[in-house]
Amino acid sequence: MSGPTGERLPYLVAKMKAPRIAERLLVTAERARAEGWAYEQFLEALLEAEGFARDASGARQRIRAAGFPALKSLEDFDWAAQPSAERPLVEHLAQLTWISEAANVCFLGPPGTGKTHLAIALAMRACHAGHRVAFATAADWVARLEAAQQRNTLEAELRRLERYGVLVVDEVGYLPLERQAANLLFALVARRYERGSMIITSNRGFEQWGEILGDAMVAAALIDRLVHHATMIGLKGKSYRLRERGTGIVPAAQIPAPPTPGPART
Ligand code: ADP
Ligand code: MG
Repeated sequence: MSGPTGERLPYLVAKMKAPRIAERLLVTAERARAEGWAYEQFLEALLEAEGFARDASGARQRIRAAGFPALKSLEDFDWAAQPSAERPLVEHLAQLTWISEAANVCFLGPPGTGKTHLAIALAMRACHAGHRVAFATAADWVARLEAAQQRNTLEAELRRLERYGVLVVDEVGYLPLERQAANLLFALVARRYERGSMIITSNRGFEQWGEILGDAMVAAALIDRLVHHATMIGLKGKSYRLRERGTGIVPAAQIPAPPTPGPART
């Protein structure tokens, strides 16, 4: 009885859907023969190449699927410009232990202080670490849940979202929510509570959430669940958007004229 000859390897590697192993098989085998590798070392080299490429393409795929409005990283965050961002704390969060604890992160502060930037940067780290992430504004989350509710699939949608390690809810408070919308946001937070992580950004302090959500009781119940296991980061200072323009003051010429209402402009 004769043993395997290696002839069927290209077929078997294709069957395993391991293109990096196919690519490297001949070169690695030659090197292994030349250097007298153990069998284990040879297999390890091939599997490592395949695993590494899969991790990278998995991260790319997860980042694409997350729906980030822009790609931002901690590396391109200007810490000197934003001392209130508490760099050591954010870098600790970048280790992502809070995700395995189903805990949350909240960035609160005025517009342009880097809330969305830091939220995306942490969420991208999560994608690289293998977590599924979904990003949307609070208004978009509500619209998504409202659509599900109208189709009678709200429960299924909330259950589907449990497969995500991190949900980013950006811009809570930019628009006040209708009562129904506030209840849906509450349903989302309540479902995530101790099951999965959220990153929330808001330009309003929690004391104003009653107003945003149109109901002090719903706001209190939501905040209670959100902050029970959460890291809160309060950002302060001037808007980085204005700062990038140089003076911190927007020249009047750059401010777009407000649209004139009425049929004259149609
Ligand atoms: P916010 O969500 O707080 O309104 P963003 O995070 O969207 O603000 O920041 C506005 C813009 O300025 C983005 O393009 C962001 O990348 C950039 N930005 C804000 N703060 C910083 C910072 N400290 N370093 C680098 N870029 C920043
Ligand atoms: Mg923002």
